[in-house]
This record gives sequence, C-alpha cells and structure tokens, in this order.
Amino acid sequence: MVDFKTSILQEQKRCIFCGKPPSNKNKEHVIPKWLIELTGDPKRQWNLGVQTNHPDRKLRKYAADQFQFPACEACNSRYSDLEGRTKGYMSDLLAGNNLTAEAWDDFLDWFDKVRIGLWLGNMMLNKDWPIPEPNFYIDQRVGQKDRCVLVYPNEPEAQVLNITGASDPMFMYLPSSFMLVVNSLVFVNISSEFLLSARMGFPYPRKTSVKGTRRYVSDFTATFNARQPFLRFEFYPPRWAVYQTVLLEGSLDAEDYKPLVEHEYIASKRIGGGRTQICTVSPDGVKFHAGGAPVEKAEMADRGLKPLVAYYIRLFEYRQRTLAQSREEFPEMRKFISYLGRFNAEAIAQAKGSTVSVRRRVRDLNPEG
Ligand SMILES: [Zn+2]
Repeated sequence: MVDFKTSILQEQKRCIFCGKPPSNKNKEHVIPKWLIELTGDPKRQWNLGVQTNHPDRKLRKYAADQFQFPACEACNSRYSDLEGRTKGYMSDLLAGNNLTAEAWDDFLDWFDKVRIGLWLGNMMLNKDWPIPEPNFYIDQRVGQKDRCVLVYPNEPEAQVLNITGASDPMFMYLPSSFMLVVNSLVFVNISSEFLLSARMGFPYPRKTSVKGTRRYVSDFTATFNARQPFLRFEFYPPRWAVYQTVLLEGSLDAEDYKPLVEHEYIASKRIGGGRTQICTVSPDGVKFHAGGAPVEKAEMADRGLKPLVAYYIRLFEYRQRTLAQSREEFPEMRKFISYLGRFNAEAIAQAKGSTVSVRRRVRDLNPEG
C-alpha cells in the first residue's frame, strides 16, 4: 500500500528543475508565456482543478500566466533557449510544415520538461492530496527515457490551449502520458523506461524484480530488428508520429549492456549520450532519420478530424492498460493501483457520456475525507 505521508513538495519550496531549495529565487512558467499568448488572452482564467480541502470544494481559479512554480535563476535560464526553439517548432507544425529529425529530438525534450513540470507543479498546488515523494525533477528526466509524440489535426480555426490527463491521481502516480491541444493540433506524448526499446530492436531487460515501489532490471538482450507497432496499442493514425529509444546512459559500460550497444544496429543509430535516432513508421516500414532530414507527415485517408474527446478517451484507455500492467508488476501496490484504475475508468465513462458527477469523483479522490 502506498504511504500517504506528506511529500516534501507540500512542506518546502523546491526548484522544479534541480529539486534543491531554489537559489536566487525565480519562477518557472510550466506552461510558457509564448504558448499562453499563442492560444488566447494571456490574462484569461483557467480552471486548474478542484480545491479538495475547501468545504464547498470550489474550483481553483488562476490567471493562465500565474501557473508558475519555484525555480533557481540559473536552472530557469538553462532552459530558456529550448523554449525559444520550441516556439519555432510549434509555429512550423501549425503552418503544416515538417520538422527535421534533429528538431523533433529537441521538441521531445520540451515535452519531457512540460510533462514533468506539470507533474511537480500539480503536486505543489494540491497540498491536501496524498502524493508520492518525487524521485526525480525535470533535470533528471529530460531526454532520459524512451519517448514518442503523436500529432493529430484539430479544427483548423481553433484557438485553444488544453491539457488533459496531467493533474489527476493517475498522473501523480505515473506521469508518463498526457495530451496537449494547441490551436489546430493535438499532441499525445508518452514516455517511460523501456517503452519502445524491445520493439525497436534496442536492449531491454529480460528480468525485472520489484522491491516495494522500486523496479530492478537485469539480463539485457536485443533483437536488433524493429517491429511495428511500437506501442502495441491502437491509437488513431496520426499526422506525424516520432519514436525515440533512449539508452541507459549510466549502464553504457555495464557488462551485460555494453556488447549490445556496440552492435552495428545500435551503434549506427546513436546520436549522443543515450539518445538514438528519431524513428517513424509507415505501411512501407520503419525508418530511422538522420539529424537534418525532414520527417514527412503521413497522408491521411480523410481529413482525419475527430472531436477532442475521441483522443481523450483513447489516451485514458491506454492509461487503463498501463495501470493493469503496473498492477501485475507491483503486487504490494495492487489495492492502490486498482483505486486509480476505478478513477480512470470513471473518467472514460464520463467522457463517453455517463452521468457520473464531478462532485462524486472529487470525494472518491480524497481517501481520508
Ligand atoms: Zn534549480
């Protein structure tokens, strides 16, 4: 069972990037200003979840540009160039242009930053939730784990910023996927350890063992052969989709890992540190892309437009599957994971038009209350 102790994030100010008490205090806009300005009035109100400790459970309201958290000045400025470049990637994609593989690698870093920033930020905001002690911050997660992003079209004239799946108890437990809608595009971002490696032909562990909430892996192997689908879950066909395996940087010299990484299949795809080439899939097969090469968008049979709720439901169904896997993997946490599964299933039912009220879901969410 999860220990519902108070997390350090609820007691002390921590830098969202490095996890230390912030030096030369600064604020990080987890959702950057450029993105807020791109998608509407920067002073607009946002609904950032429910204040569960308040007797009438009123909605938290913040101006969109106030969703900001402690950071060191130095940490903050380390990421400011990435924000600048990402603004360019976003406007290219919104204009329908392809990005290079190198740009996608960089853009995936931004998704890591935002996803983990939302995770930490929402834990800091929800002081009354039972939340885990974070065992990493943004610095320890950017470009460290297998990752992908799937991109879909939204209504061409839409002006909207929407973040889904990044503030509920399921995300607090597993901050590995979320959905971001920016005007005419929908992004589904997923990242976790060994998410893609086995299917992409890269090293993966044959043995895993679990102690409490920690997983230990050993006995690595690799097929040196990519087989789609990488995710083994049927998402809607995206306009763009990029996949990237990230090798275990700390294990590159390990006895059972080094020979695999030195194999031609992998050596030829390494692009620095643990990173490997951006990969795409199509009916013609799997393709790894050199840095400067453009990653072409997929031809879509129809215009491919679906209501946002359709993507939302698919993402939550994917999460349901990851919870089921997690329940197998961590028997000691079975009860807690089942509780998250019920919460997630209710969200799906609600999206599909069920009448489960928000009020009830909020009550369920706070096991003490
Ligand atoms: Zn810092």
